[in-house]
Amino acid sequence: MAFVITEACIHEKAADCADVCPVDCIEEGEDQFYIDADICIDCGACEAACPVAAIYYEDELPEDQKIYMQKAEEFYRIK
Ligand code: SF4
Ligand code: SF4
Repeated sequence: MAFVITEACIHEKAADCADVCPVDCIEEGEDQFYIDADICIDCGACEAACPVAAIYYEDELPEDQKIYMQKAEEFYRIK
């Protein structure tokens, strides 16, 4: 399990989430930031820091945002 960055992050540039992540597992992609689920320790710091509430715990992802979990997996798979 891990946290997931969703649609509200697209084209946001202020990486408050990455600044607070204790394990440095948030990276900028082409149009949004991504969390590396293999490294995330589920601390929740990023969720609290995001000004647009783009970050959800995997289990609490709204149905229409589940695609962003797959998008993150793909980002790290081809990296
Ligand atoms: S939950 Fe914690 S470890 Fe995981 S991405 Fe957010 S800040 Fe980093
Ligand atoms: S703080 Fe929120 S909006 Fe900003 S980069 Fe992180 S997830 Fe995206």
